[in-house]
Order: sequence, then C-alpha cells, then structure tokens
Amino acid sequence: MMRAMILTEVGRPLRLLDRPDRLPGAGEARLSVLACGVCRTDLHVVDGELANVRTPIIPGHEIVGVVDSVGEGVSLAVGERVGVGWLGRTCGVCAFCRSGRENLCDTPEFTGYTRDGGFATHAIVDARFAYPLAAAGTPADQAPLLCAGLIGWRSLVFAGAGKRLGIYGFGAAGHIIAQVARWQGRQLFVFTRPGDGAAQDFARRLGAHWVGGSDEAPPAPLDAAIVYAPAGELVPAALRAVGKGGRVVCGGIHMSDIPSFPYEILWGEREVVSVANLTRKDAHEFLAVAPEAGVRTLVTLYPLEAANDALADMRSGRLTGAAVLVP
Ligand SMILES: [Zn+2]
Ligand SMILES: [Zn+2]
Repeated sequence: MMRAMILTEVGRPLRLLDRPDRLPGAGEARLSVLACGVCRTDLHVVDGELANVRTPIIPGHEIVGVVDSVGEGVSLAVGERVGVGWLGRTCGVCAFCRSGRENLCDTPEFTGYTRDGGFATHAIVDARFAYPLAAAGTPADQAPLLCAGLIGWRSLVFAGAGKRLGIYGFGAAGHIIAQVARWQGRQLFVFTRPGDGAAQDFARRLGAHWVGGSDEAPPAPLDAAIVYAPAGELVPAALRAVGKGGRVVCGGIHMSDIPSFPYEILWGEREVVSVANLTRKDAHEFLAVAPEAGVRTLVTLYPLEAANDALADMRSGRLTGAAVLVP
C-alpha cells in the first residue's frame, strides 16, 4: 500500500488515505518519494482557483524520488534519484510540441493537477519527464528547484538580459531566482508585501541591491521585473517601475484580476508577458545552472501528514522560503 494526502473535494482539506500499490506501465517509472515541495499552484488546485480540478487527485509537483521500479521502454535505472515537476506529459505532435514550445501543448498533463502528484509515499510518472538529480544533494533542498526553480528560471530568461531586475513577491521562486540573478551579475530590486520585515531581511541577506514594499517606487527605473506574487495589482505597479523598453513578466499560473491602468505606463514599448508552464529543455538548463550558481534553498519541513498545515501557512503568508513535505 502507498499513503497519500488526497484532495477528494475542492475547497476541503486533503485526506490521508491508503491506496493500493500500482506497477508502472510502459514508459512509466514508480518513484519512492523522498521529498515533495508545496507550491502556490497546489494551493490554487486545492482552493479551486484553477479550472477543472479533477478529484480525487494527489497534489504535489516538486517531487524528488528514487526510481523503485520501471515499466517497459524506460531507460531510468532502479535506484536513480530523479525529480519531477509540473509538466507531467505532452502530446509530442501538436504545433506547439513540434516547434519547441511543449509548455503550450494542446493536450498536456500536469503533475498534481491532471495526474497524481507527489504528496505521497510513491508516485508513478512518465519517465520522459523525470530529470536526473545529484544523489549527493539533500532531497528536501532539491524539491523547490522543480517548480519554483524551473518556472522561476523560465521567467528570468523571459525577463531578458537587463541588469536592473525587479522581483515582486519573495517566496519560493523569488529567493531561488534572486540567487541566480546575482550570480549572473544583475542588480536586484526586491518588492515584498508592505511591512514584511522578514522577507525584506531575507532579500537583503541574498544580496538585493534595494528592498522595499510593493507600494514603493525603486530608486531608478528597472530594465525588467518579474511578478511571482499572484496579485494582479502588482502588474501596473511593476509597469510603473520599469523604464522605456522594459518588460514585466508574470510568472504565476493564477493571478487575481489586473486593475485597469493608464496607457502611458505601457507606452514606451514596455511589455507585459506571461510565462506558462515549462519545457523539458528549461528543466535540464536550470538543473545544470542551479549548482553552478550555488543556489541554496530555504525550506520549512513538514511531515507528509501535515500537508494541510503547509498549505495553510502558505495561504496566510506565514512562510519564509519554501515548504517541503517529507513522507
Ligand atoms: Zn502537444
Ligand atoms: Zn508549482
């Protein structure tokens, strides 16, 4: 039997349930889960803020596990440590898949949303979407890299090469990408909830050049800004913070409505773009960059059974860094 924290009804707490063991099918691998990060998207799934949540579903898409059995045609080795993120499977044949944009696949599967994820002792995954991880690392420290890190990385690439980078929302993705941006030699401007001293101190410790509330203006115009917080009102705020030709990248899968804003803050060839999901190429790139950049994650551990507490702490903004479940 495997144990899992399962969403049986949207808007209700997860329930700890036993599930019969299943063997991996062709192309699949079964992982013994070592750690699984808790991402804001899990909260959006549980709270029903994403459309068409399928229940029952096991959330969790920052899985670090050891391959304990493989199906036919799988090249992963039993005993190998791998990570699995949000992109659970793509069709491989649609126009997006065929043009290097599998993140936009027409019929994708997403881990912990349309297929079972990692809030469990075991997970069955499509082996093509499992990425090798260094066996020397601490599993709980690696978990946040698999979504906060990967989507964070895609957002950073979308932000362009500008030196003066703003980050709105300094949670799991923010604190990882801040380290990569510093390593790239960028100047970092971090915007937190007004008065969030803990997040502001944390950003300073990670080398931010300037730290302030999201209601403040940076000391000089930015080249680009990434909005990781799911708050639509930050988009006009970020547009006001970037200079001519500046780009605002929305890194979240869900955001509250963006309030209307005067055209003049978009004028000057400023851009607003969203980043959707990720490709396997993003994953391989980032998982190589992270150790090179010396990325360290700040994690708060919870036992698997305490998944609801982790979600509640994230919902209330009590977390610093990333939450990780350990079965
Ligand atoms: Zn496709
Ligand atoms: Zn995520």
